[in-house]
Amino acid sequence: MKYYILFGPPGAGKGTHAGAIAQKFNLRHVSTGELLRAEIAAGTPLGIRAKELMDAGNLVPDEVVEGMIENVFNSVKDVDGFLLDGYPRTIPQAEVLDKIVAARGESVSGVISIMIPDEEVHRRIARRAAIEGRADDASDATISHRIETYHAQTEPLIDFYKAEGKYHEVCGYPGTIEEVRERVLALVDSL
Ligand code: AMP
Repeated sequence: MKYYILFGPPGAGKGTHAGAIAQKFNLRHVSTGELLRAEIAAGTPLGIRAKELMDAGNLVPDEVVEGMIENVFNSVKDVDGFLLDGYPRTIPQAEVLDKIVAARGESVSGVISIMIPDEEVHRRIARRAAIEGRADDASDATISHRIETYHAQTEPLIDFYKAEGKYHEVCGYPGTIEEVRERVLALVDSL
């Protein structure tokens, strides 16, 4: 089984390109953000707890996303692997992921990183707010806070995975969606 991590700041295009990667390489796309938004929509206790944190641009507790990831790993069959989108997002999450995957006799296969500058993050999320109506896209302050959270808590994963020789990066900007998709697919092909 492959365990790929799709990495990048908010708005880098992870969700946009995940479908094409998953389809081409027969992977299950797992977005922790989407799973959390589904919990909120269903009004579950987990969703109610997560909503406030998410709307403010904060991360939800590590145990919450870890439980969701383990559920998916345990229940999904008939794929060649997983494409993790938005997870791990902290060093402790990455350490736990290593353990979860090791317990399955495997290891993380590689990190596929799509990089864009902060100014472009702002522009894209403001545009997405009008289309998708996500509460955490709605205000400039929340967008800025998510970018800060990314730099403080998620960016250190780059060095974590570089140290393991697993970090691979493509430019998500400039370029059209099609151009970036080609870059990403070529990268995964090369892994
Ligand atoms: P995303 O759709 O990946 O932008 O995630 C939306 C929001 O869900 C984030 O801003 C966090 O509040 C929460 N979230 C998603 N994935 C994680 C994660 N791995 N750890 C903690 N919080 C997460």
